[in-house]
Amino acid sequence: MSLNPRLVKESFALVEPVAPKAAAYFYGRLFSANPHLRAMFPPAMDMQRDRLFNALTRIVWMLDSPGGLSSYLAQLGRDHRKYGVIAEHYTAVGTALLATIRHFAAEVWTDEIEAAWVAAYGMASEMMVEAASADAGQAPPWWLAEVIDHEVRSRDIAVVTVRPSQRMDYTPGQYVTVQTARWPRVWRTFSIANAPRDDNTLRFHVRAVPGGWVSSTLVRHTRIGDQVLLGPPVGTMVPVDSGRDMLCVAGGTGLAPLKAIVEHVIASGRRPNIHLLHGARFARELYDMPDLARMESGFPWLRVLPVVSDEPAFDGMRGALPDVTERFHSWAEHEVYVCGPASMVSRTVQRLQASGVPPCRIHRDTVQGEP
Ligand SMILES: Cc1cc2nc3c(=O)[nH]c(=O)nc-3n(C[C@H](O)[C@H](O)[C@H](O)COP(=O)(O)OP(=O)(O)OC[C@H]3O[C@@H](n4cnc5c(N)ncnc54)[C@H](O)[C@@H]3O)c2cc1C
Repeated sequence: MSLNPRLVKESFALVEPVAPKAAAYFYGRLFSANPHLRAMFPPAMDMQRDRLFNALTRIVWMLDSPGGLSSYLAQLGRDHRKYGVIAEHYTAVGTALLATIRHFAAEVWTDEIEAAWVAAYGMASEMMVEAASADAGQAPPWWLAEVIDHEVRSRDIAVVTVRPSQRMDYTPGQYVTVQTARWPRVWRTFSIANAPRDDNTLRFHVRAVPGGWVSSTLVRHTRIGDQVLLGPPVGTMVPVDSGRDMLCVAGGTGLAPLKAIVEHVIASGRRPNIHLLHGARFARELYDMPDLARMESGFPWLRVLPVVSDEPAFDGMRGALPDVTERFHSWAEHEVYVCGPASMVSRTVQRLQASGVPPCRIHRDTVQGEP
């Protein structure tokens, strides 16, 4: 059976506009045929549904780019080990997925489209299973970690330091999923805010979102000595050793992975000029200035620029990050890293590209929604 990305994409285009309905239908089919699988999922399924569709959309649109697709699926396969997923679960998921696409794309459905989906799902699940079994001999499915420091930095933001009981190897810029004892089986993604350390500790910058399950727990109900679970490190916004100067544009807790990248570059002994712009709406949300000032004083090639958008009296650089990047000389020769809320990231990237930075030198991630 051969892959036919066009048929998969065309039929998926009918499902995308009704994604919430389709996700509810999918889980209904999955759990009615396999009730024992329900216990693997969190009590509230809303975020889970979004996550399913985000992942599915990404896979469908990447079917034409085998390189990116295989590394994404390998990460997804390794990450799914923490749920206790085994090879036979993929068959159950595949059956429910096919039934869902067939139901919502009924008006165009043909045997050819069905064959295209069977081939695409077969290929994707095989890559995930292979990556998971290759990882099984090398790393645990999840890490138990103890909270060893907890600093409340503003009304909504805390910096949380944990020490996993086993070494976790990762690349600066990557993120992990975190589960707290308060919300079993609820995993949320947080960027690691430091380069790897000898003592194996990891730091997270967490902003409590209103009504947020895991973020509020980490900011308001977590103490030194508490335990959390961590999923394996994933993410592709990692440092590129090109020898170029660097621009890092961070919105809110998007600072976390960029700080890890800057720490890594400083530790590597390289001496590029680095501009690090950290943006927030109000000055009180610039939660890491003392630490950033320390980094700046220890590395003369680093320039940290706080940027505030909604406080006219702020005695520093004012404005939205995408606009502020245009106030400097050209960044066209720089390696650029951008991280923050999705809208800030996409507007910043658009501006930088319009001003001549080639897309291949722009590395981006968001700290909003799901991977
Ligand atoms: C790659 C990646 C890296 C991330 N890194 C970080 C990080 O370093 N620090 C950090 O604080 N967060 C980070 N996030 C966001 C984090 O994963 C959670 O989405 C966020 O903490 C909310 O989870 P929750 O369980 O508290 O809220 P939920 O219980 O999932 O949601 C509660 C309510 O808040 C809304 N909501 C969810 N997320 C957000 C948001 N980001 N902003 C506003 N409203 C929201 C939901 O729609 C819902 O209405 C990252 C996300 C991604 C995808």
